[in-house]
Amino acid sequence: MVQKVAIVTGGNKGIGWETCLQLAKLGFHVVLTSRDPSKGEPKAEELRKQGLKVDYYQLDVSDSNSIEAFYQKFIKEIGRVDVLINNAAILLDKEQPSHTSEQLRQTLETNVIGPYHLITLFAPIMQKQKEGRIVNVSSGVGQLSGSYEGLDTYAISKTALNAVTHLFANKMKGEDILVNSVCPGWVKTDMGGSEAPRSLTEGAFGIVWAATLPKGGPSGGFFRDGKPLTW
Ligand code: NAP
Repeated sequence: MVQKVAIVTGGNKGIGWETCLQLAKLGFHVVLTSRDPSKGEPKAEELRKQGLKVDYYQLDVSDSNSIEAFYQKFIKEIGRVDVLINNAAILLDKEQPSHTSEQLRQTLETNVIGPYHLITLFAPIMQKQKEGRIVNVSSGVGQLSGSYEGLDTYAISKTALNAVTHLFANKMKGEDILVNSVCPGWVKTDMGGSEAPRSLTEGAFGIVWAATLPKGGPSGGFFRDGKPLTW
């Protein structure tokens, strides 16, 4: 049987790394990516030492040249993709509460345009394979029904990422390619901080759930722990 391949962005730490671990334990061939090889390669090696099938690739999602280079290398060396986890993101609002337009531009590059670019490249491969799962790691902070909690540029980016989910889920409606947004909840990571109540395992749960949905599962939704959230 063909081993399924899962690409994870920002896989060197936090929820991304935990997602790599969980997917690899489920039998996926995981492609752990990070913008900095010196941070990502050792984290991939850590998983390989546990007997898991994990390859490392450099990928800076804010840089379209890096995305194109990753795609070309990936096509030549692996070619198959069953799962794409758009996990990498930045949150600048806490340290830069000025919420400038430049800050928004930078945030959108990483949190929205990178994921959009990756989907435009990898969804056609899934379409050829007639199967695929795309998970956009979003945040409850991006809910239009909420207040954005002073995380202005980050929240806008997550609302926009949800729009990306909506767009591609509709484009591929009727195909076995399920595209969903997932909020991991408030998780103890560098981004979430030490006050966060949730563990990495709890945070990655809903992401792995969406990555492993059966045929006929939901698409174009926003979920936390496998349960629907309002937009
Ligand atoms: P984290 O610990 O700060 O990790 C973020 C990851 O994204 C790191 O691997 C980081 O790489 C990577 N990254 C940032 N910019 C990148 C770029 N341009 N190219 C490639 N990788 C890049 O954050 P986390 O808490 O695990 O967050 C993971 C996801 O969950 C994010 O989408 C976040 O918005 C979402 N989320 C988190 C929480 C929470 O409470 N933690 C809540 C809701 C949603 P470097 O190590 O190189 O910086």
